[in-house]
Amino acid sequence: MGLLLVKPYLGCNLNCKYCYERVYRKEKKLNLGKVKSQYDLKKIFKEMEEFKDYQQVLHGGEPLVMGKKDVKKILMKMKKLTGRSGIQTNGFLIDDDFIKIFKKCNTSVGVSYDGPEELSKFRPGTSNLDEKVRKMVKQGLRVSMIMVISKANAGNDKLLGKLKKYLLELNELKVCGRLNPCAGAPGFELEEKRLIKIYLDLADFCLTHNLRWSPFVDIVNGLQGKCRVCTFSSCDIFHTKSATVLVGDGSISNCIRTNEKEIILRHPAEYNTRDEILKETPQEFGGCLNCKYFNACHGGCPTQTIDNDWRNRTYLCPLYKALFQFYEKTLNFFGFYSSRSKYAGEVKRGGINEIHQDGHGDWPNHGDSNQINFEQKEEDHVPKNSENKGIDSKYQDDSHGDWPNHRDSRCGNRADHKDNAHGDSN
Ligand code: SF4
Ligand code: SF4
Repeated sequence: MGLLLVKPYLGCNLNCKYCYERVYRKEKKLNLGKVKSQYDLKKIFKEMEEFKDYQQVLHGGEPLVMGKKDVKKILMKMKKLTGRSGIQTNGFLIDDDFIKIFKKCNTSVGVSYDGPEELSKFRPGTSNLDEKVRKMVKQGLRVSMIMVISKANAGNDKLLGKLKKYLLELNELKVCGRLNPCAGAPGFELEEKRLIKIYLDLADFCLTHNLRWSPFVDIVNGLQGKCRVCTFSSCDIFHTKSATVLVGDGSISNCIRTNEKEIILRHPAEYNTRDEILKETPQEFGGCLNCKYFNACHGGCPTQTIDNDWRNRTYLCPLYKALFQFYEKTLNFFGFYSSRSKYAGEVKRGGINEIHQDGHGDWPNHGDSNQINFEQKEEDHVPKNSENKGIDSKYQDDSHGDWPNHRDSRCGNRADHKDNAHGDSN
Protein backbone atom coordinates (compact mmCIF):
# COMPACT_ATOMS: atom_id res chain seq x y z
CA MET A 1 0.00 0.00 0.00
CA GLY A 2 1.34 3.42 -0.92
CA LEU A 3 1.38 6.52 1.18
CA LEU A 4 -0.34 9.77 0.25
CA LEU A 5 0.93 12.84 2.07
CA VAL A 6 -1.77 15.49 1.93
CA LYS A 7 -0.05 18.87 2.17
CA PRO A 8 -2.62 21.61 1.65
CA TYR A 9 -0.52 24.28 3.30
CA LEU A 10 3.26 24.45 3.42
CA GLY A 11 3.64 27.36 5.83
CA CYS A 12 4.40 26.84 9.48
CA ASN A 13 3.85 28.63 12.78
CA LEU A 14 7.24 27.58 14.16
CA ASN A 15 9.72 27.74 11.27
CA CYS A 16 12.28 25.45 12.88
CA LYS A 17 15.77 26.42 11.89
CA TYR A 18 16.76 23.15 10.23
CA CYS A 19 13.45 22.38 8.48
CA TYR A 20 13.90 21.00 4.96
CA GLU A 21 10.96 23.10 3.77
CA ARG A 22 12.52 26.36 4.93
CA VAL A 23 13.95 27.22 1.50
CA TYR A 24 10.59 26.81 -0.21
CA ARG A 25 8.85 28.78 2.50
CA LYS A 26 11.30 31.63 2.20
CA GLU A 27 11.14 31.60 -1.59
CA LYS A 28 7.33 31.73 -1.60
CA LYS A 29 7.08 34.12 1.34
CA LEU A 30 4.41 31.92 2.86
CA ASN A 31 2.34 34.04 5.13
CA LEU A 32 0.26 32.68 7.97
CA GLY A 33 -2.39 35.33 7.33
CA LYS A 34 -3.17 33.78 3.95
CA VAL A 35 -3.52 30.14 4.97
CA LYS A 36 -6.92 29.45 3.44
CA SER A 37 -6.14 31.03 0.10
CA GLN A 38 -3.44 28.42 -0.45
CA TYR A 39 -5.62 25.36 -0.79
CA ASP A 40 -8.80 24.21 -2.42
CA LEU A 41 -10.52 21.50 -0.41
CA LYS A 42 -12.77 20.45 -3.29
CA LYS A 43 -9.79 19.68 -5.51
CA ILE A 44 -7.93 18.02 -2.63
CA PHE A 45 -10.87 15.74 -1.79
CA LYS A 46 -11.33 14.77 -5.43
CA GLU A 47 -7.70 13.71 -5.61
CA MET A 48 -7.82 11.93 -2.24
CA GLU A 49 -10.58 9.76 -3.69
CA GLU A 50 -8.23 8.68 -6.47
CA PHE A 51 -5.83 7.42 -3.79
CA LYS A 52 -8.32 5.64 -1.60
CA ASP A 53 -6.16 2.52 -1.65
CA TYR A 54 -3.30 4.46 -0.06
CA GLN A 55 -2.65 5.27 3.55
CA GLN A 56 -3.28 8.97 3.85
CA VAL A 57 -1.63 11.44 6.18
CA LEU A 58 -2.29 15.11 6.73
CA HIS A 59 1.03 16.88 6.60
CA GLY A 60 2.51 20.31 6.11
CA GLY A 61 4.04 22.79 6.78
CA GLU A 62 2.06 22.69 9.94
CA PRO A 63 -1.41 21.30 9.25
CA LEU A 64 -3.09 22.50 12.44
CA VAL A 65 -2.80 26.15 11.41
CA MET A 66 -5.54 25.40 8.86
CA GLY A 67 -7.98 25.51 11.77
CA LYS A 68 -10.18 22.92 13.44
CA LYS A 69 -12.93 22.98 10.85
CA ASP A 70 -10.71 22.20 7.86
CA VAL A 71 -8.48 19.76 9.76
CA LYS A 72 -11.58 17.84 10.83
CA LYS A 73 -12.98 17.84 7.29
CA ILE A 74 -9.76 16.40 5.88
CA LEU A 75 -9.30 13.77 8.60
CA MET A 76 -12.94 12.72 8.29
CA LYS A 77 -12.52 12.37 4.55
CA MET A 78 -9.47 10.15 5.14
CA LYS A 79 -11.39 8.05 7.62
CA LYS A 80 -14.27 7.68 5.19
CA LEU A 81 -11.95 6.62 2.39
CA THR A 82 -9.51 4.42 4.31
CA GLY A 83 -11.02 3.66 7.71
CA ARG A 84 -8.46 5.74 9.55
CA SER A 85 -6.40 8.89 9.29
CA GLY A 86 -2.97 10.21 10.17
CA ILE A 87 -1.39 13.53 10.90
CA GLN A 88 2.17 14.80 11.38
CA THR A 89 2.25 17.96 13.46
CA ASN A 90 4.64 20.10 15.48
CA GLY A 91 2.05 19.82 18.25
CA PHE A 92 2.07 23.49 19.20
CA LEU A 93 -1.66 23.97 18.60
CA ILE A 94 -2.88 20.64 19.95
CA ASP A 95 -5.62 21.21 22.52
CA ASP A 96 -8.61 19.29 23.88
CA ASP A 97 -10.69 20.07 20.80
CA PHE A 98 -8.05 18.71 18.44
CA ILE A 99 -7.69 15.62 20.61
CA LYS A 100 -11.45 15.05 20.28
CA ILE A 101 -11.16 15.42 16.52
CA PHE A 102 -8.29 12.90 16.40
CA LYS A 103 -10.31 10.42 18.41
CA LYS A 104 -13.35 10.85 16.22
CA CYS A 105 -11.31 10.42 13.04
CA ASN A 106 -9.30 7.39 14.24
CA THR A 107 -6.14 9.42 13.77
CA SER A 108 -2.57 8.24 14.30
CA VAL A 109 -0.75 11.29 15.59
CA GLY A 110 2.89 11.84 14.68
CA VAL A 111 4.50 14.59 16.70
CA SER A 112 7.70 16.33 15.62
CA TYR A 113 9.66 17.10 18.76
CA ASP A 114 13.30 16.94 19.78
CA GLY A 115 12.86 16.47 23.52
CA PRO A 116 12.09 18.59 26.55
CA GLU A 117 13.45 22.07 27.25
CA GLU A 118 16.80 22.90 25.66
CA LEU A 119 16.77 19.67 23.63
CA SER A 120 14.20 21.40 21.40
CA LYS A 121 15.92 24.75 21.22
CA PHE A 122 15.92 24.63 17.41
CA ARG A 123 12.13 24.18 17.59
CA PRO A 124 10.90 27.35 19.26
CA GLY A 125 7.73 27.17 21.34
CA THR A 126 7.40 23.42 21.86
CA SER A 127 8.43 23.13 25.51
CA ASN A 128 5.06 21.90 26.83
CA LEU A 129 4.63 19.08 24.34
CA ASP A 130 5.27 16.34 26.90
CA GLU A 131 2.05 17.11 28.68
CA LYS A 132 0.12 16.96 25.41
CA VAL A 133 1.74 13.68 24.41
CA ARG A 134 0.83 12.14 27.79
CA LYS A 135 -2.72 13.36 27.47
CA MET A 136 -3.15 11.90 23.98
CA VAL A 137 -1.70 8.56 25.05
CA LYS A 138 -3.91 8.50 28.13
CA GLN A 139 -6.92 9.08 25.91
CA GLY A 140 -6.03 6.08 23.82
CA LEU A 141 -4.60 7.79 20.74
CA ARG A 142 -1.78 6.19 18.77
CA VAL A 143 1.13 8.60 19.12
CA SER A 144 4.58 8.46 17.60
CA MET A 145 7.44 10.91 17.44
CA ILE A 146 9.93 12.19 14.91
CA MET A 147 13.02 13.56 16.59
CA VAL A 148 15.81 15.32 14.75
CA ILE A 149 19.21 14.58 16.24
CA SER A 150 21.20 17.79 16.16
CA LYS A 151 23.56 19.90 18.24
CA ALA A 152 20.57 20.88 20.40
CA ASN A 153 19.88 17.40 21.77
CA ALA A 154 23.19 15.57 21.25
CA GLY A 155 25.82 18.30 20.95
CA ASN A 156 27.49 17.21 24.19
CA ASP A 157 27.28 14.25 26.55
CA LYS A 158 25.06 16.05 29.05
CA LEU A 159 22.44 16.72 26.35
CA LEU A 160 22.74 13.16 25.09
CA GLY A 161 22.16 11.89 28.63
CA LYS A 162 18.95 13.93 28.80
CA LEU A 163 17.87 12.64 25.43
CA LYS A 164 18.35 9.02 26.52
CA LYS A 165 16.41 9.66 29.71
CA TYR A 166 13.60 11.07 27.61
CA LEU A 167 13.62 8.03 25.31
CA LEU A 168 13.08 5.87 28.39
CA GLU A 169 10.20 8.08 29.52
CA LEU A 170 8.63 7.76 26.09
CA ASN A 171 9.05 4.02 26.28
CA GLU A 172 6.96 4.01 29.45
CA LEU A 173 4.23 5.63 27.35
CA LYS A 174 4.89 3.15 24.55
CA VAL A 175 5.78 6.02 22.22
CA CYS A 176 8.59 5.64 19.72
CA GLY A 177 9.31 6.70 16.15
CA ARG A 178 12.28 8.09 14.29
CA LEU A 179 15.60 9.53 15.30
CA ASN A 180 16.46 11.34 12.09
CA PRO A 181 19.95 12.79 11.77
CA CYS A 182 19.72 16.53 11.16
CA ALA A 183 20.91 16.88 7.56
CA GLY A 184 21.29 19.64 5.01
CA ALA A 185 21.32 22.27 7.76
CA PRO A 186 24.87 23.47 8.36
CA GLY A 187 25.35 24.91 11.82
CA PHE A 188 22.66 22.68 13.33
CA GLU A 189 23.79 19.21 12.35
CA LEU A 190 26.41 17.26 14.27
CA GLU A 191 29.91 17.06 12.88
CA GLU A 192 30.54 13.65 11.25
CA LYS A 193 32.74 12.09 13.91
CA ARG A 194 30.33 12.97 16.71
CA LEU A 195 27.32 11.97 14.61
CA ILE A 196 28.74 8.46 14.23
CA LYS A 197 29.69 8.25 17.90
CA ILE A 198 26.22 9.39 19.00
CA TYR A 199 24.34 7.00 16.73
CA LEU A 200 26.47 4.01 17.72
CA ASP A 201 25.85 4.94 21.33
CA LEU A 202 22.10 5.28 20.69
CA ALA A 203 22.06 2.00 18.75
CA ASP A 204 23.60 0.24 21.73
CA PHE A 205 21.26 2.04 24.13
CA CYS A 206 18.15 1.11 22.11
CA LEU A 207 19.31 -2.50 21.86
CA THR A 208 19.99 -2.69 25.60
CA HIS A 209 16.61 -1.23 26.51
CA ASN A 210 14.65 -2.82 23.67
CA LEU A 211 13.61 0.55 22.22
CA ARG A 212 12.36 0.27 18.67
CA TRP A 213 13.33 3.51 16.99
CA SER A 214 14.25 4.16 13.40
CA PRO A 215 16.73 4.24 11.74
CA PHE A 216 17.90 1.29 13.84
CA VAL A 217 14.95 -0.94 12.99
CA ASP A 218 15.36 0.01 9.33
CA ILE A 219 19.03 -0.93 9.35
CA VAL A 220 18.25 -4.33 10.88
CA ASN A 221 15.38 -4.85 8.48
CA GLY A 222 17.61 -3.84 5.58
CA LEU A 223 20.23 -6.39 6.59
CA GLN A 224 17.52 -9.03 6.75
CA GLY A 225 16.04 -8.07 3.38
CA LYS A 226 12.85 -6.74 4.89
CA CYS A 227 10.77 -3.63 4.58
CA ARG A 228 12.46 -0.41 5.59
CA VAL A 229 12.18 3.33 5.28
CA CYS A 230 12.47 5.08 1.90
CA THR A 231 16.00 6.29 2.60
CA PHE A 232 17.27 2.73 2.21
CA SER A 233 14.83 1.66 -0.49
CA SER A 234 16.14 2.99 -3.79
CA CYS A 235 14.40 6.29 -4.44
CA ASP A 236 13.87 7.89 -7.85
CA ILE A 237 14.02 11.62 -7.17
CA PHE A 238 11.60 12.30 -10.06
CA HIS A 239 9.07 9.68 -8.96
CA THR A 240 9.42 9.12 -5.22
CA LYS A 241 7.33 6.00 -4.92
CA SER A 242 7.52 6.07 -1.13
CA ALA A 243 5.92 9.49 -0.96
CA THR A 244 3.10 10.67 -3.16
CA VAL A 245 2.39 14.27 -2.30
CA LEU A 246 -0.92 16.06 -2.82
CA VAL A 247 -0.53 19.83 -2.61
CA GLY A 248 -3.06 22.61 -2.05
CA ASP A 249 -4.19 23.08 -5.68
CA GLY A 250 -4.83 19.35 -6.12
CA SER A 251 -1.57 18.62 -7.98
CA ILE A 252 0.44 15.48 -7.39
CA SER A 253 4.11 15.93 -6.68
CA ASN A 254 7.05 14.08 -5.20
CA CYS A 255 8.46 14.01 -1.72
CA ILE A 256 8.79 17.64 -0.70
CA ARG A 257 12.48 17.14 0.03
CA THR A 258 12.95 17.01 -3.74
CA ASN A 259 11.15 20.32 -4.25
CA GLU A 260 13.51 22.84 -2.82
CA LYS A 261 12.30 26.06 -4.43
CA GLU A 262 9.40 24.97 -6.63
CA ILE A 263 6.81 22.21 -6.50
CA ILE A 264 7.42 20.08 -9.57
CA LEU A 265 4.80 17.72 -10.94
CA ARG A 266 5.59 14.06 -10.56
CA HIS A 267 7.04 12.17 -13.50
CA PRO A 268 4.59 9.41 -14.43
CA ALA A 269 7.19 6.63 -14.61
CA GLU A 270 9.69 5.40 -12.06
CA TYR A 271 13.24 4.66 -13.18
CA ASN A 272 16.14 2.90 -11.52
CA THR A 273 18.79 5.22 -12.90
CA ARG A 274 20.40 6.21 -9.60
CA ASP A 275 20.71 2.63 -8.43
CA GLU A 276 22.38 1.68 -11.69
CA ILE A 277 24.81 4.60 -11.49
CA LEU A 278 25.67 3.95 -7.84
CA LYS A 279 26.24 0.24 -8.33
CA GLU A 280 28.81 0.90 -11.04
CA THR A 281 30.54 4.02 -9.77
CA PRO A 282 33.60 3.58 -7.53
CA GLN A 283 33.22 4.94 -4.04
CA GLU A 284 36.02 7.47 -4.54
CA PHE A 285 33.86 9.05 -7.27
CA GLY A 286 30.68 9.27 -5.19
CA GLY A 287 29.22 5.82 -5.95
CA CYS A 288 28.73 2.62 -3.97
CA LEU A 289 30.66 0.08 -6.08
CA ASN A 290 31.61 -3.00 -4.05
CA CYS A 291 29.84 -1.87 -0.91
CA LYS A 292 28.51 -5.03 0.70
CA TYR A 293 25.61 -3.11 2.22
CA PHE A 294 24.28 -1.82 -1.08
CA ASN A 295 21.20 -4.05 -1.15
CA ALA A 296 20.33 -2.88 2.34
CA CYS A 297 21.10 0.79 1.73
CA HIS A 298 20.87 1.81 -1.95
CA GLY A 299 23.01 4.87 -1.36
CA GLY A 300 20.59 6.68 0.94
CA CYS A 301 18.26 9.57 0.18
CA PRO A 302 18.95 11.32 -3.15
CA THR A 303 18.39 14.70 -1.50
CA GLN A 304 21.19 14.22 1.04
CA THR A 305 24.04 13.50 -1.32
CA ILE A 306 27.68 14.32 -1.81
CA ASP A 307 27.97 17.67 -3.63
CA ASN A 308 24.17 17.89 -3.55
CA ASP A 309 24.05 15.76 -6.71
CA TRP A 310 21.31 13.09 -6.67
CA ARG A 311 23.49 10.74 -8.72
CA ASN A 312 25.95 10.47 -5.85
CA ARG A 313 25.53 8.44 -2.67
CA THR A 314 24.44 10.12 0.52
CA TYR A 315 26.98 12.14 2.46
CA LEU A 316 25.66 10.27 5.52
CA CYS A 317 27.35 7.13 4.14
CA PRO A 318 30.01 6.93 6.92
CA LEU A 319 27.21 6.97 9.52
CA TYR A 320 25.19 4.31 7.72
CA LYS A 321 28.23 2.10 7.18
CA ALA A 322 29.05 2.29 10.89
CA LEU A 323 25.48 1.30 11.78
CA PHE A 324 25.35 -1.51 9.22
CA GLN A 325 28.61 -2.85 10.66
CA PHE A 326 27.31 -2.59 14.22
CA TYR A 327 24.14 -4.55 13.47
CA GLU A 328 25.87 -6.99 11.16
CA LYS A 329 28.18 -7.92 14.02
CA THR A 330 25.25 -8.14 16.41
CA LEU A 331 23.18 -10.30 14.08
CA ASN A 332 26.19 -12.48 13.33
CA PHE A 333 26.87 -12.88 17.03
CA PHE A 334 23.42 -14.34 17.48
CA GLY A 335 23.76 -16.35 14.29
CA PHE A 336 20.96 -14.53 12.46
CA TYR A 337 22.76 -13.12 9.48
CA SER A 338 25.30 -13.92 6.86
CA SER A 339 26.33 -11.24 4.41
CA ARG A 340 27.49 -13.93 1.99
CA SER A 341 24.08 -15.52 1.72
CA LYS A 342 21.93 -12.46 1.24
CA TYR A 343 23.65 -9.30 0.25
CA ALA A 344 26.31 -10.31 -2.20
CA GLY A 345 23.73 -10.65 -4.95
CA GLU A 346 22.54 -8.18 -7.51
CA VAL A 347 19.76 -5.80 -6.66
CA LYS A 348 16.63 -6.62 -8.59
CA ARG A 349 14.46 -3.91 -10.02
CA GLY A 350 11.77 -2.92 -7.56
CA GLY A 351 13.68 -4.83 -4.96
CA ILE A 352 12.30 -3.00 -2.00
CA ASN A 353 8.97 -2.21 -0.66
CA GLU A 354 6.69 -2.56 -3.62
CA ILE A 355 3.85 -1.90 -1.25
CA HIS A 356 5.48 0.62 0.97
CA GLN A 357 6.14 2.93 -1.92
CA ASP A 358 6.11 5.55 0.73
CA GLY A 359 8.86 5.48 3.34
CA HIS A 360 9.78 9.11 3.15
CA GLY A 361 11.19 8.87 6.59
CA ASP A 362 8.56 11.33 7.64
CA TRP A 363 5.83 8.91 8.30
CA PRO A 364 7.05 6.65 11.04
CA ASN A 365 6.73 2.96 10.35
CA HIS A 366 4.16 0.81 11.90
CA GLY A 367 3.86 -2.78 12.60
CA ASP A 368 5.95 -5.56 11.21
CA SER A 369 8.19 -3.27 9.28
CA ASN A 370 9.71 -1.81 12.38
CA GLN A 371 10.06 -4.85 14.48
CA ILE A 372 13.63 -5.85 15.04
CA ASN A 373 13.16 -9.49 14.28
CA PHE A 374 15.65 -11.79 15.91
CA GLU A 375 13.43 -14.79 15.45
CA GLN A 376 15.30 -16.77 12.87
CA LYS A 377 13.34 -18.96 10.56
CA GLU A 378 14.67 -20.97 7.68
CA GLU A 379 12.76 -18.87 5.16
CA ASP A 380 14.16 -15.68 6.65
CA HIS A 381 17.57 -16.42 5.19
CA VAL A 382 16.45 -15.73 1.68
CA PRO A 383 13.12 -13.97 1.19
CA LYS A 384 10.69 -16.13 -0.76
CA ASN A 385 10.30 -13.88 -3.75
CA SER A 386 13.78 -12.47 -3.63
CA GLU A 387 14.33 -13.46 -7.23
CA ASN A 388 11.77 -10.96 -8.36
CA LYS A 389 11.29 -8.40 -5.70
CA GLY A 390 14.11 -8.69 -3.27
CA ILE A 391 11.91 -8.95 -0.21
CA ASP A 392 9.06 -11.13 0.82
CA SER A 393 5.74 -9.41 0.36
CA LYS A 394 4.70 -10.36 3.86
CA TYR A 395 7.27 -7.86 5.06
CA GLN A 396 6.21 -5.11 2.77
CA ASP A 397 4.96 -2.14 4.63
CA ASP A 398 4.84 1.46 3.73
CA SER A 399 7.92 3.08 5.04
CA HIS A 400 8.31 6.61 4.02
CA GLY A 401 8.36 7.60 7.64
CA ASP A 402 5.33 9.81 7.63
CA TRP A 403 2.82 7.45 9.02
CA PRO A 404 2.80 7.90 12.77
CA ASN A 405 3.79 4.71 14.52
CA HIS A 406 1.38 2.72 16.51
CA ARG A 407 2.62 2.56 20.00
CA ASP A 408 1.88 -1.08 20.61
CA SER A 409 3.18 -2.34 17.31
CA ARG A 410 6.54 -0.64 17.46
CA CYS A 411 7.22 -0.40 21.13
CA GLY A 412 5.17 -3.10 22.68
CA ASN A 413 6.35 -6.14 20.76
CA ARG A 414 3.07 -6.63 19.03
CA ALA A 415 2.71 -7.01 15.32
CA ASP A 416 -1.00 -6.50 14.94
CA HIS A 417 -0.85 -2.98 13.55
CA LYS A 418 0.38 -2.71 10.04
CA ASP A 419 0.98 0.81 8.91
CA ASN A 420 3.27 2.64 6.67
CA ALA A 421 6.38 4.58 7.30
CA HIS A 422 7.63 7.59 5.55
CA GLY A 423 9.86 9.28 8.15
CA ASP A 424 9.85 13.04 7.75
CA SER A 425 11.90 15.19 9.99
CA ASN A 426 9.98 18.37 10.33
S1 SF4 B 1 26.81 2.36 3.04
FE1 SF4 B 1 27.62 4.02 1.74
S2 SF4 B 1 28.70 3.01 0.03
FE2 SF4 B 1 27.39 1.49 1.05
S3 SF4 B 1 25.47 1.50 -0.15
FE3 SF4 B 1 25.21 2.92 1.59
S4 SF4 B 1 25.80 4.93 0.82
FE4 SF4 B 1 26.60 3.40 -0.63
S1 SF4 C 1 13.10 11.35 2.00
FE1 SF4 C 1 12.61 9.34 1.10
S2 SF4 C 1 11.06 9.71 -0.52
FE2 SF4 C 1 12.02 11.70 0.03
S3 SF4 C 1 13.64 11.95 -1.50
FE3 SF4 C 1 14.55 10.99 0.34
S4 SF4 C 1 14.46 8.77 -0.01
FE4 SF4 C 1 13.08 9.76 -1.48
